[in-house]
Amino acid sequence: MAERVVGGCKCGQIRYEGIRHEAATFRCHCRDCQQLTGSGHSEMLPLEIDTFSISETCKIFEMQGGSGQPTYSGFCPDCGSQLIRRSTRMADRIYVHASSLDNPAQYTPEKSIYADAAQPWDSNGIIKPL
Ligand SMILES: [Zn+2]
Ligand SMILES: [Zn+2]
Repeated sequence: MAERVVGGCKCGQIRYEGIRHEAATFRCHCRDCQQLTGSGHSEMLPLEIDTFSISETCKIFEMQGGSGQPTYSGFCPDCGSQLIRRSTRMADRIYVHASSLDNPAQYTPEKSIYADAAQPWDSNGIIKPL
């Protein structure tokens, strides 16, 4: 059954919803995610792009992803909450930050990516493949 996901930013100005995409969730340890989240890694949940709707426009920051393709980070212009991540390489989905879910327990991290970039103080957060 399609799993509906709803969430938003800290100040409540931006709300979003969508249906869970079948791709894996991931914990990303890359330097971009460290800098953008102010922590050791991000926690990302994919939604079907065709089902995604958002109440207000995020401020979008463009950067170069690990693949060399542009990656877009969306956040609330008022409170700064990190909300979405998109890559031109994966056009069928949009990733939302697990911390922005109304029910963050809906999220389970399935794998780590860019584990080599993990900080020593965050290395116990690496999810090793089984
Ligand atoms: Zn906000
Ligand atoms: Zn990352």
